[in-house]
Amino acid sequence: MFLIFGFRSKDTIVGHQVARCEVCGATAAQTLVRRTTKFSLFFVPLFPVRAARHFVTCTNCGRTRQAARSELVAA
Ligand SMILES: [Zn+2]
Repeated sequence: MFLIFGFRSKDTIVGHQVARCEVCGATAAQTLVRRTTKFSLFFVPLFPVRAARHFVTCTNCGRTRQAARSELVAA
């Protein structure tokens, strides 16, 4: 009997906002992404294994960093 299991992360775009990038310093659109990681059995995601994390990606330089709580409220 085979069990195929693993973890799968999925990114969902939550919103966009124009703000100053902390990396490149330019004022550009910032994309807010929510990442969830779930346990999967036979390629079917079943339940989350950790709390959702939020990231901000700059459209000017392309760098991704962890989102601050104030950015989550603003989006
Ligand atoms: Zn940037």
